[in-house]
Amino acid sequence: MELTTGAGSVIKRVPDSPELSQPIQYLKGVGPKRGELFDKLGVKTVKDALYYFPYRYEDRGNIKKIARVSFGSYETVAGTVILAENITTPRRRMKLFELTVKDETGAVTGVWFNQPYMSKVFHNGDNVILYGLVKQDPYKHYRPVMENPEYEIIDEADEAIHAGRVVPIYKATAGFTCRQIRSIMKGVVNEFAQKLEEFLPGDMLRKYKIPTLPVAVKEAHFPENETDINLLNAKGTRAQKRLVFDEFLLLEMGLMSMKKGRAKALGRAMKGDGGLRKEFRKRLPFSLTQAQEKTIREISRDMERPVRMNRLIQGDVGCGKTVVALMAALQAAEAGAQAAIMAPTEILAEQHYLNVKKYLAPLGIKVALLTGSVKKKDRERTLKELSDGEAQLVVGTHSLIQEGVVFNDLGLVVVDEQHRFGVMQRAGLSGKGVNADVLVMTATPIPRTLALTVYGDLDISVIDSVPPGRTPVRTKLFDESGRLEVYRLLKSELQKGALAYVVYPLVEESEKSDLKAAREGAEKLAEIFGDYPVGLLHGRMKPDEKESVMEDFRSGKLKLLVATTVIEVGLDVPEATVMVIEHAERFGLSQLHQLRGRVGRGSRQSYCVLMAGMMADNSRARLQAMIKNSSGFDIAEEDLRLRGPGEFFGTKQSGLPEITYGDIIRDYKIIEAARNEASAIIEKDPGLQSETGRVLSRELKNKWIGRLDLVKVG
Ligand code: ADP
Ligand code: MG
Repeated sequence: MELTTGAGSVIKRVPDSPELSQPIQYLKGVGPKRGELFDKLGVKTVKDALYYFPYRYEDRGNIKKIARVSFGSYETVAGTVILAENITTPRRRMKLFELTVKDETGAVTGVWFNQPYMSKVFHNGDNVILYGLVKQDPYKHYRPVMENPEYEIIDEADEAIHAGRVVPIYKATAGFTCRQIRSIMKGVVNEFAQKLEEFLPGDMLRKYKIPTLPVAVKEAHFPENETDINLLNAKGTRAQKRLVFDEFLLLEMGLMSMKKGRAKALGRAMKGDGGLRKEFRKRLPFSLTQAQEKTIREISRDMERPVRMNRLIQGDVGCGKTVVALMAALQAAEAGAQAAIMAPTEILAEQHYLNVKKYLAPLGIKVALLTGSVKKKDRERTLKELSDGEAQLVVGTHSLIQEGVVFNDLGLVVVDEQHRFGVMQRAGLSGKGVNADVLVMTATPIPRTLALTVYGDLDISVIDSVPPGRTPVRTKLFDESGRLEVYRLLKSELQKGALAYVVYPLVEESEKSDLKAAREGAEKLAEIFGDYPVGLLHGRMKPDEKESVMEDFRSGKLKLLVATTVIEVGLDVPEATVMVIEHAERFGLSQLHQLRGRVGRGSRQSYCVLMAGMMADNSRARLQAMIKNSSGFDIAEEDLRLRGPGEFFGTKQSGLPEITYGDIIRDYKIIEAARNEASAIIEKDPGLQSETGRVLSRELKNKWIGRLDLVKVG
């Protein structure tokens, strides 16, 4: 099978053995209906099923004598069925199935509600194991009872899988119980696990003392009975660690081969004579910080070399990334190439556009704007200017990557606020230029320790200081009872001539009601602060409406700007000194940090006010973190800790293969080992031509299939 990916190159998919790639529905005991249910769980083939691991385990192997069970605990008991009958309770007329099981110390009752067919499952004399929460039954002399217990009927010939051992718990779905899945999985693992092909070299297995792939997969589903349950639930057994290692090894290898492939990827040398840049510097009302200068040098060097640049700039909100990007754009222009800056929202693109135009038009640079809402006529003109090369710089949203946007000679692509875009989109835009250089800018710093893993395919520059003369923002937390105090603060700042933002959360699903809250908030503020004009900015406004509100705020015609989160990223109004965030508990940490970054841009003391109602501990921890930390790096680390890596990185969106088994925080040591091994492998056998190289290369391609055009190995 051949697949075409984003930028047009083709990678061959290497098939698994036919047995492993057969659709799961053809297996005995599955069928089309369950096949569909499996599909819902993301399992299509036998191999998918082998990799559908339990998300936790229960110890149902520690069998207690019935007389010894503790009420209120989950217990496992074993005994003989002495009674199995459907009954109707006399009082509430509920239909129950009751099972009485006896061992040599006593009896326990299992109760199932509204499941009369259970009477067909059990027979007197069956040997069974029950697992469940033990309660006391007031109607039966306070004897132990378990409601809907897990059960296993012991057949001499069969191995227990649902109780009487450590039991895997699978994520189930409507109409497909964990028990049913477990039964099928047992069969799949028994029959197919040994058909998985080992792809790690033997000396690696020995070095890390990890089991072979078939053993690891088998153990991860049905661990040996003595396995420590806590170790299992922390994915800490050797088998589990092996699977985590696999996942990260393939991730690291993929990232490294991308980086390597690109190092070789031909780029263009854009040297430029420095003329435009010099002129631009002269016009800046400030001098650049050391950190900006250093980053500009790194970019400039990359652009001069005939290799493709792929650089990430990490820099906290307000550190001045835009100027850095413009210096790069000017270098491209000096070399006769075009540049594109892609922003995550229309309003930000528009702001950038106006800003950039202000600086660059006097230098004779033609700047264009392209967003989804640029009118047809303007759009057509812009498209023409881009294709005939008249426009040297275009600022836009993801509209830039759409079909029909053709550049005369695109040399540089700048992606602002990277966390909103994925790797795929990045590739999409750079594909519009012949070997265009790529610069990615993010204000959501990845904790340094992890940046390598997540952005392993990029070179990184860090702008680690903000321009001088800024005063750290004072952050305060209030609940409703503090509202008057907040108004007082607003008033005193307004009297000093400052501007203020009031932000309301915008949850997409309930856009209307949130908009209502913002609108009402604006009305209320207008009432209270009669002398100070209040403006409202939200996502549903037309671009020119938005722009005119923004302009009125920037120029000081409006003093208070009430907004939904459209102002989250990038707005730059130095006179604003107060940021009030309503329902702060509903925002993520990095969002809050971004919002706070809108103030504190001048030399005046600025304030960030977090208004929060009732909240869970986790939200409180987030808001405390905001008060405690001012650096984006610290906040990012806190965020990672509080939210967990999945949500933090949004790997789904990033275009990287998803990390489904490992955990970027917990498995940090394994990641390091995987990274070292990956680089050793690629160093030694760059084309993955050796015998082990070839097997690895197959796994690599299957893992990264369809994701990236840049996998150049094997
Ligand atoms: P961000 O990195 O968050 O995108 P911006 O590029 O929007 O930050 O810059 C924030 C503000 O700081 C802007 O008003 C910009 O003009 C200003 N700025 C940038 N660099 C400097 C500097 N070296 N000295 C003073 N102000 C600067
Ligand atoms: Mg910015």
